[in-house]
Order: sequence, then structure tokens, then C-alpha cells
Amino acid sequence: MDLDSLSSRVQSVTPSLTLAVTNQAKAMRAQGDEVYGLAGGEPEMDTPDHIKAAAVKALQEGKTKYTPAAGIPELREGIAEKLLNDNNLVYEPKQICVTSGGKQACFNTVLAMCDEGDEVIIPAPYWVSYPEMVRLVGAVPVIVETEEKNNWKMTAGQFEEAMTPRTKMVIINSPGNPTGSVYTEEELKAIGEVASYEDIMILSDEIYEKLVYGDKKHVSIAQISEELQSLTVICHGFAKAYSMTGWRLGYTAAPPELGAAIAKIQSHTTSNATSFAQYGALAALQGPQSFVEDMRNEYDVRRQFVYGRLAAIPNVSVTNPDGAFYFFVNCSDLGLKSQNLCDKLLTRYKVAAVPGIAFGHDASLRLSYCTTLDVLNEGITRFEEFCRSH
Ligand code: PMP
Repeated sequence: MDLDSLSSRVQSVTPSLTLAVTNQAKAMRAQGDEVYGLAGGEPEMDTPDHIKAAAVKALQEGKTKYTPAAGIPELREGIAEKLLNDNNLVYEPKQICVTSGGKQACFNTVLAMCDEGDEVIIPAPYWVSYPEMVRLVGAVPVIVETEEKNNWKMTAGQFEEAMTPRTKMVIINSPGNPTGSVYTEEELKAIGEVASYEDIMILSDEIYEKLVYGDKKHVSIAQISEELQSLTVICHGFAKAYSMTGWRLGYTAAPPELGAAIAKIQSHTTSNATSFAQYGALAALQGPQSFVEDMRNEYDVRRQFVYGRLAAIPNVSVTNPDGAFYFFVNCSDLGLKSQNLCDKLLTRYKVAAVPGIAFGHDASLRLSYCTTLDVLNEGITRFEEFCRSH
């Protein structure tokens, strides 16, 4: 088959580089190489037992059939309760759609909102899939370059400058992947003012909500005012907070008409997220939350360790991230393009990292600290050797 006969939309999209690096590292391991994996985007801990037990029980009770496309009513209610308790946001369960992962939550939102030619503002560095999702629906990603000295956050001024009459939506990801940046309430207020003045919709990806460190706190832009809540779709998931990446569970919380549109899209595409997995998600929300806090504390220890080590390397620069589990390391002084840099790092030093180009910044790489301190220690020692040799 001729590649040209593929749809122009799919031809406009590149495969996920983050998954590609992880796969290459896996292949090297299969050949007996010891690889220090700092590329991953998932907690290495297992899913807590009480969550697994709830899914097993659901299976044993025969919860193996279709559920409503937008999810079982108990889970939609549980998510609405979570939004009220954690974020002080009022949602009706019918505004919630349970999705097969946070990724589907984002894609459903883009599909529900954007027409051919609409523009979507995306601050860079961005999560790898946003521009591709926008292209897949025929819309146009408009990338706003943020600055390291502003902790890689988009200012309201930059947002305003990037706007055109075609702007339909803006994507805010806080805490962010790959930078770990956390927007403050003030910053969100300023961005929200610009959005509400022009009635721009906001996709707020809050999947790393529970991973915020020090005195920083997570604020959802939807919390700032009712008006902003009515312009915002919260995209969220269970993967990061409860170590449930393989379960494929996420959700959207949207204004009523948009919530119905998202559920409609899902009813014609994937239908419900896996029936028994949804019972696991319910247990995650309603069971003990100590796992989340323990994991956050563990990550905080690693974060501080890694920051100390990276800050001591003379020819790279790094900001101490306030959230998520990544460091975005600016390697401009090494003079290599990020793909070349990561290839060398992997093949010669056996350290897997993700090239910054995947996130729209070609002079950097992403290191994740969702691995043990031992692996981090050895991986960063090798990264330092690599940097010092350039
Ligand atoms: N948003 C961001 C910012 C992410 O980093 C990820 C996972 N890498 C997702 C969404 C998707 O998560 P899920 O595995 O639930 O699809």
C-alpha cells in the first residue's frame, strides 16, 4: 500500500516519541544490557491491593457487561464528590464522562470542541500528544514558547499575543509534563481573564494533581470563578495518583452541553471504559488515600536528590520542579539536537531519557524520577559523565 493513500490527518501526526524510547530501552534490556531507565512516565509502585480487590470482586460478581457509555453511575457520582471535596467544584454526575485513560479524556475534549481550521493554543514545552490530537481533528496547534526563567509557564500576556479570531481553545497542564511546573492561582486568574474576555475554552489537564511538592498547591482554573468553570473541561485520570497506568481510566468534567457531547462521541467510538476496572477506580477514590501521600513523599525525596545532582552539573541548567515526576533539563550548551543527545546517552551510557523535541524544545531532555534512588543515582552519574565529556 502507498503511504500517500493514508488520510492526510494521520500523515500529519508523528508517533509518540516517549513510547518509542521506552520500547528501545526494553529491547536493549531483552538483549542483556543493563539500562538505567529515566524515560518512563509511570509510577513504578504496584496498584494498591484494595483497588485490585474491588476490581476482582466486580469480576467475580459478573460485572462483565456493557456499562453506560459515560461510566457506571456510582463512579460518576464518586468523581463528582471528589471534585467537590478536593477542588470545591460542584458538578452533576451527568457532567462527568469516565474515559479509557486521561489520553482519551483529552482527545474527546478536542474532538468535541474543535472544527477544521480552529486554533488551539498550547504552551511549550507541552505533553507530547496535545499537538497531535489537535492535528488529528483537523485543527491547528498554535505553540507558545515559554521561558525557563518563568519556570516554563505561559504568561497571560503571551496567551493574549497568540490569540487570533480563530482561537477556540487553550490547553493548560498543571502540574505539567514534561516540566513539572505548577501554575499559581494568580497566574491562572490572569490567564482565565484573557480566556473569559474572548470566550476561549480551556482544556485543563490535571492528571498530576496529587503530585505537588513543598508549599505549592494545586489549583484548578475552574475553581477561580463560575464563569471559568463554564469554559473549562477538566481532564483527569487514575494513572498517576493511584499507579493505575495499565488500567486505562480517566475522566472529563465539563459544562453540561459539552459533557453530553463528549459522552455522545464516546458512545460511538469506544463505549464504556472496562466495566470491572471502573469498580477499581471507585475504590481508589473512596478507599484510604495514604498510598497517594506515601508516594508523593517518596517522590519528593527523589526530586530533591535529583535536583541536587543535576544542579551540580556545570553545562546544563534545570529548574526545581514543583510537581509531577519529571525534570526538564536544558542542554543548550552541549550543542546537540535532543534526539542525537538521547541516542548517544542510551547507546553509549545506557541511560534512557526522552528527547526534548517530543515536547517542542529541541535543546533539552526529560528525565523522570519514577524509579528507585539507586537507579537514579547511577543514571545521573552516567548523565553527568556524558555532559562533562562535551
Ligand atoms: N496528560 C498528561 C499530561 C500525561 O502526562 C499523561 C500520561 N503520560 C496523560 C495525560 C494520559 O494519561 P493516561 O495514561 O491516563 O491516558
